[in-house]
Amino acid sequence: MSITATDLQAPGYELPALGNNPSSSAAGTTPGSFARKPQIAPGRSGRMTFSSPDTPGMPAASDRTAWDFMPSDWTLKPGFESNYECAEAWEPPAGFTPVTQLESARCGIITPEMQRVAEREPHLTPAQVRDEVAAGRMIIPANRVHLGYQLDPMCIGRAGKTKINANMGASPVSSSTDEEVDKLKWAEKWGSDTVMDLSTGGNLNECREAIIRNATVPIGTVPIYSMIIGRKIEDLTHEDILRMLKHQAKQGVDYFTIHAGVRMAHLRFVEKRLIGIVSRGGSLLAKWMITHNRENPMYELWEDICDIMREYDVSFSIGDGLRPGGLADATDRAQLSELETLGELTERAWRKGVQVMIEGPGHVPFDQIEFNMKLQRRLCHGAPFYVLGPLVTDIFPGYDHITSCIGATAAGYHGASMLCYVTPKEHLGLPKKDDVKQGCIAYKIAAHAADVALGIPGTRDRDDELTKARAALNWEKHFELSFDPEYARALHDEDLDVDTDFCAMCGHDWCSVRISKEIEMFVSGKDEEYQWDKAKVSSALNPDQLAVLESRGVLSPDEIHKLASKTKKAVAPAETSKASCHSDYVDAEEARRIQEEIATV
Ligand code: SF4
Repeated sequence: MSITATDLQAPGYELPALGNNPSSSAAGTTPGSFARKPQIAPGRSGRMTFSSPDTPGMPAASDRTAWDFMPSDWTLKPGFESNYECAEAWEPPAGFTPVTQLESARCGIITPEMQRVAEREPHLTPAQVRDEVAAGRMIIPANRVHLGYQLDPMCIGRAGKTKINANMGASPVSSSTDEEVDKLKWAEKWGSDTVMDLSTGGNLNECREAIIRNATVPIGTVPIYSMIIGRKIEDLTHEDILRMLKHQAKQGVDYFTIHAGVRMAHLRFVEKRLIGIVSRGGSLLAKWMITHNRENPMYELWEDICDIMREYDVSFSIGDGLRPGGLADATDRAQLSELETLGELTERAWRKGVQVMIEGPGHVPFDQIEFNMKLQRRLCHGAPFYVLGPLVTDIFPGYDHITSCIGATAAGYHGASMLCYVTPKEHLGLPKKDDVKQGCIAYKIAAHAADVALGIPGTRDRDDELTKARAALNWEKHFELSFDPEYARALHDEDLDVDTDFCAMCGHDWCSVRISKEIEMFVSGKDEEYQWDKAKVSSALNPDQLAVLESRGVLSPDEIHKLASKTKKAVAPAETSKASCHSDYVDAEEARRIQEEIATV
C-alpha cells in the first residue's frame, strides 16, 4: 500500500499551511513543518525566514534591516533609492577598506569566513550568508586575532541552525585556569557553539588568554567584570572602560556583552520588582549611575566602543541588564524599555559597521515567550537574539537545565538564534564538568527541536535514521546515531547487554516494535542497511559506560562489573551471530526463559 496525497487530507480536519520538510528524503508520513515557508532572500524580503506563524496580537517584523542604517559617509548612488539593499547601490568613502564581516558584506564581498559558514550550514550558499550578514540578521563572531589561532568560523542568525552557548569561568571561590580550559574542551565536545568566559576570580587575564588560544569556537566575555578587579565600581572611569575593551579586543575576544541599555530613566521601573536587577553587569552599572547621578557610561561611550570593536571585528552581544530574575518580573516596563534602547544601540552600531546580536531573558512564563521574541525582532530589526533560557518556572533549583530548556525550545522556534545554556547548578553554584555536560545536552535538545520545527532543511535526517534503526531493533546503529552513544548503551546494557529484538522496558512478549516488524504492511525497519544480519552481541561495558552506571548508583559496583559478561554467559552467542534470544531463532517460550534467566543473574 502506498500513501497518496489524499490520505493526508482526510475529511473532518484541515492541516495548517505547510512550511519546509526538515527531512531531505521526506521520510515517513508526516506532512512536514507547520512553520512558515523559508524565504532566504537579501534585505527585508528575507526577514521571515525560518519563523513561526504569528499568534494573533504578536508584533509584526520590522521592515528595516542594517541596510537602513548605513554609515553617514557612504553614498547612495542615484537610481537606487528604492532598491538600496545591495552592494551595487552604495559608494563607500574613498580609500575605504572593509574590516568587519558586516562591512565586507556591504561591499558585496564573500569572505573566507562566510565560505566556511556555508560549508557548515549546507542549506545556505556563501552568497546567502553574505546577504544575511549585510542585512544584520546574521553575525560571524570572528575576531581577527582569534582567526590567527584555532577559530573555526560559525554564524549566529535565524537563517542558520540554532546555536548554543556554554558559560564558564573561575570565580573568587572556585576553579582555576587549567580547569577552565578543560571545561572549554569539554563544552566543545558536547556541542557548544560558543563559550563565554565569565571569570570573576583567579587570574582573569591568563585564563582568558588560555581560553582564546585553545578555543575552536568563538569566545565571548563581559568586560566589566575585569574592569572592577582591584577597584570599586564607583571608581570606574570612562578611560578604564575603553582601556579594558581595547585590551580584550586585542587579545582576540570574539564578542563582548556590554550592558549599555540600562539607562537612568529605566531604574525607577525596578523598584517594585520582586528581585530587582539580577544581571551582574546591569546591577554594577546601576550602582555607578546612582552614585554619580549620571547616565550609563557604556551608553555615553557607545560610538567610541564601536570604534574599538570595529578595529578587531569584535561583535556586540548587547546585554540585557534589566532582564527579569523571576516569573513575577517578566515582560515588565523595565525589561521592555531597555529592549527599546537596545534597538537604538543596534542602529548606532550598524552605522559604525559593527556586527550586533542582542541578549534576552531570563525567566519568562511560557505564554509570554513568543511575544518577547517577536518584540525583539521588531525593535532590533532582525538582529540575532541570544537568550538565556528562559526558565519557565522558578521552583525547580537543581533542575533549571530542564525548566529553561523548555523555554529555550519555544524561544528558538519563535525567533531566538542562540540559546545560552543553563546548568543544574544555576542559582546554586559554579558548574562542574558534569553540570556543563548536562547543560550542553539540554540545550542541544532545545536547539535541535526548534530547527526541526522550523523546517530547516536536513535537520531531521539523523532522527529519521535513528527511527529506522529503532524500528529494525538494530541496537548498534541505534547507539551510533545517538547524541551520547556511551550513555544510551550503558542504560540499555544495565538491563540487557545483548542485542535482542526487544529491550527490558517492555520485554519480549510486549515489544510492539518487534510485533510491528512481523506485520508486513509497515515499511520501517526493512531497509537493507538495518537488517538483522548486521545485529551483533554487545561488547563488554567500556570504562565510560561503567562510569555512567556507577554514577546512577542503582546497581552495586559488583553488579555493574558482572554486567558485561552476564548475558554472554546466559545466551552464549557466537561473536558474529545474532543473540540466541532473537525471535528469528527461538520460539516465544525460549525467549521468555532466557529473559527470566537474565533477570535473575
Ligand atoms: S521492548 Fe518496548 S521499549 Fe524496548 S524496543 Fe520493544 S517496544 Fe521499544
